Amino acid sequence: MIRRIDLRGTEGPVDYRDVVPRADFDVEAAVPAVHAICEAVRTRGVDAIKEYARQFDGVELDELRVPAGATTEALERLDPAIRAALEESVRRLRATCEAELERDAVTDLGPGARVTHRKVPIRRVGLYVPGGLAPLVSSVLMNVVPAQVAGVESIALASPPQKDFGGQVHPTILAACALLGVDEVYAVGGAQAIAMFAYGTGPCERVDLVTGPGNIYTVTAKRLLKGQVGIDSEAGPTEIAILADDTADAAYVAADLVSQAEHDPLAGAVLVTPSERLAAAVEAELDGQVLAAKHSERIRTALTGPQSGVVLVEDLEQGLDVVNAYAAEHLEIHTEDAAGWAARVRNAGAIFVGPHAPVSLGDYCAGSNHVLPTGGCACHSSGLSVRAFTKSVHVVDYSRDALAEVADHVVTLAEAEDLPGHGAAVRVRFQD
Ligand code: NAD
Repeated sequence: MIRRIDLRGTEGPVDYRDVVPRADFDVEAAVPAVHAICEAVRTRGVDAIKEYARQFDGVELDELRVPAGATTEALERLDPAIRAALEESVRRLRATCEAELERDAVTDLGPGARVTHRKVPIRRVGLYVPGGLAPLVSSVLMNVVPAQVAGVESIALASPPQKDFGGQVHPTILAACALLGVDEVYAVGGAQAIAMFAYGTGPCERVDLVTGPGNIYTVTAKRLLKGQVGIDSEAGPTEIAILADDTADAAYVAADLVSQAEHDPLAGAVLVTPSERLAAAVEAELDGQVLAAKHSERIRTALTGPQSGVVLVEDLEQGLDVVNAYAAEHLEIHTEDAAGWAARVRNAGAIFVGPHAPVSLGDYCAGSNHVLPTGGCACHSSGLSVRAFTKSVHVVDYSRDALAEVADHVVTLAEAEDLPGHGAAVRVRFQD
């Protein structure tokens, strides 16, 4: 079912980015369609959003904003077991977020000369929670908790309207919002939600930053609107890579590949191994597990797509080069000395070490964040964290004497750049 790519015996320096599996329909390919959606929202506002709700979500939207009280009502009706699971997830996530909070860095550069690198929370953010294929209630927590710990003042959240719930946001998502005290919620999905946040449409005041995961349309809108609005990372269709040797349990490996393929027909699932025996055992496991899965069609499409594959490598050293080139959103290590190999990984959104840290744990309850860069972006971007919701500003505080200490250097550099006005602005302070 899943294709094989054999990299054994590859000679000479190779850029593995050219050979690792990637989807055919990617962010670049989605640009024309998504550009049209963003432009329609910018120019025609609420009317365009309502048309897309009809076209893509099959609902007639009365109001974009979820009515007051709907979130608390949903929380009152929430299954207690789901509530307990959400609370545990929040507890763990909040603990890691609090540990990630950075302090101001104050540097004294001599008497009266001080530079402070001050951390400032972003004022208003728009958080996106997917809901086209599955109501990702966990994404409410992954977005909201770091924003709140960072000290964000104004939080708006959007998720697709659900046909089965009268065009409203899924009730479990609404309940999670109430649990975290978020009451500005919009029943808007996909690219149009990102455009609504970026431009400020109808009742939604423009935001400074958009975060959250989504499908190819949602993530393409983030790329197109970056600059108009801040974004976290391009957190698109899920990917899992597994680096495994002969010690790995084929049933675990297959189950974890299936668990991420379940997200989206465009999800990528990649096994990298030097063990032909393991590769064959995982392929056999996949046949059985996919047949038995609830979303078998979606999983099969993902596993048979060009974005998935079993990559055979000479040894784990070559495997490490391949996974670093792939820069997976999620990377699992199922090898002897898994922690040692994990320590040598440079590019991954999150790393899951050993047989008892499946990606599903990270999706819900590990305490780590599940909003992670995809499509190779993990070589330059990070997963969502408190840091994404803060910016920093240098505060420069010099006395007259401290300025005098460095004045000649400033004037020299200003002259070297042929910007004498810069030097004059310092000299004028010492003319008396
Ligand atoms: P979603 O909520 O982002 O998208 C649903 C919306 O897509 C719909 O409301 C509709 O507006 C839009 N849409 C549907 N068809 C369209 C079309 N033909 N043209 C334009 N817009 C269209 O996402 P989803 O579909 O529920 O999927 C969730 C995605 O989030 C999956 O791909 C999953 O892998 C991903 N995810 C990623 C991460 C991460 O951190 N990278 C985490 C969780 C989930």
